[in-house]
Amino acid sequence: MSNATPPPPPPYTGPGSPHDVPPAPGSFPIDPETLPKPIRDELLAPDPVAIDTASAELKDGQNHCPKCGATDIKQRPGTDQLICLYCRNEWTAARVEEAFGLGEGIDDLEGTVVASGAGDISADASSLMTFKCTGCGAEVTVNTENAMTARCHWCRHVFGVNEQIANGAVPDAVLPFHIKKDDAVARIRQFVDKRQMFALKAFKEQFTPENVVGVYMPYMIVDSKASADIVGEGEIETRCYTKGSGDKKKTYYDADIYQIERHVDFTVDDLPMESSANRSDFNTRANTNNIINTILPFDTKNAIKWNASYLSGFSSEKRDLDVAQLMPRLEDQLLSIARSQVHSSVNAYDRGVRWEEEGVEIHGSRWVAMYLPVWLYSYHQPGSNGGMLHYIAVNGRTGETMGSVPIQQWKLLLAALTVGTILEFIALWIL
Ligand SMILES: [Zn+2]
Ligand SMILES: [Zn+2]
Repeated sequence: MSNATPPPPPPYTGPGSPHDVPPAPGSFPIDPETLPKPIRDELLAPDPVAIDTASAELKDGQNHCPKCGATDIKQRPGTDQLICLYCRNEWTAARVEEAFGLGEGIDDLEGTVVASGAGDISADASSLMTFKCTGCGAEVTVNTENAMTARCHWCRHVFGVNEQIANGAVPDAVLPFHIKKDDAVARIRQFVDKRQMFALKAFKEQFTPENVVGVYMPYMIVDSKASADIVGEGEIETRCYTKGSGDKKKTYYDADIYQIERHVDFTVDDLPMESSANRSDFNTRANTNNIINTILPFDTKNAIKWNASYLSGFSSEKRDLDVAQLMPRLEDQLLSIARSQVHSSVNAYDRGVRWEEEGVEIHGSRWVAMYLPVWLYSYHQPGSNGGMLHYIAVNGRTGETMGSVPIQQWKLLLAALTVGTILEFIALWIL
């Protein structure tokens, strides 16, 4: 073998290769009509339509005051206005709904329409954004895992991440905080006070307003046009009678059983979907994530075109889920909307309906990435398996407050016993 010459590699390409079939004249590019159906369908399917929401005017990482050019810009608390901390000039960004026509055309939606800030996250896109400071030449880094602005600590220039990099951190829109921190702290305190009696001592003692933080949570706001088919059986009672007597008395029902089919066509406008995998982990033994969903809704119609200055002074959580990953959850949600729509049409079935088959078809959907404002107070309760993360959340627009408070189990038990004892006592007294 050692002195045998290896055979030359087969000429896989090039004229004369046995593997090549020369193209028939004029047949390139490939005519999709000649391909098998699944491949043809894929080739002919339209590309997802994109809505470009990029803010070209904010491209260099510095948001300048339109009047004086300073970069120290913040949201004016409680409003949608931005304010220049240097010259006190105030202005407001455009609402996305109007700027990009997001309120219209839900009835005509086809395919998947994705706004540019809701595009797929690429695995190698870094969370760290580095800017070269134009003031002093230093490098300023923003870690988009939890912040969208940073100040150069040498010359105080402020940088914000406005460019729609593919790391999931820059959405299309932001719904600014309207509830101020003082107000949020008061609401959280009230929430805790109401549950004083049973709350864990350590939890009450450690409550500090400084630990209440404003966080922008990542959501996808979805419009969709869909239809659903639901099939089942419904029963209508025709007769009710008893047989036997005394202990053996039994009640019988006669019923007509109907095969029911329902078809609904419907649209949804601004359905919010959590787009952070951690937050949508509803493992109630380890965290209390579903709390955020109890402080919905948000007035997403008023969301403003992305401008990192709105996040100055707030923390943020990066989106890590793409449209494709959220699609099955959208189907689930649409199906439950369809079920509730159908519900009112089956009232006549007085003995109930059993649904056996259901399916939803999404004709079109439109996805916009948005940061929603939430005030959070969190408390980690030590315990087995890493303990439990409790938190209280305040909707940054409406003030709606919900949370989980760690409970002193023995107090609850004692209370239950006490109530029981009193009832027993009253019962005895009456007798
Ligand atoms: Zn200014
Ligand atoms: Zn600088």
